[in-house]
Amino acid sequence: MICPRCDAENVRVLTTSPVPGRWIMYVCDTCVYTRRSTEPSYATDPATYPAAFKIDPAEIPTMAAIPPVPPRRDG
Ligand SMILES: [Zn+2]
Repeated sequence: MICPRCDAENVRVLTTSPVPGRWIMYVCDTCVYTRRSTEPSYATDPATYPAAFKIDPAEIPTMAAIPPVPPRRDG
């Protein structure tokens, strides 16, 4: 299975519905994108996921932390 946001083939089942067979929740171990199997195609299909929200896995290590972590105060 391919991640809709980063196109990595690193998606696994995170959990399933309390009532069996209702939905499956998936998580991408590359970008941590999570989604339910019942969400519309723009949230589940790499081909229709909004291009503006796509990310490149190579850029993940240099992405800004939000909220930013302030510098440590010594003393
Ligand atoms: Zn991903």
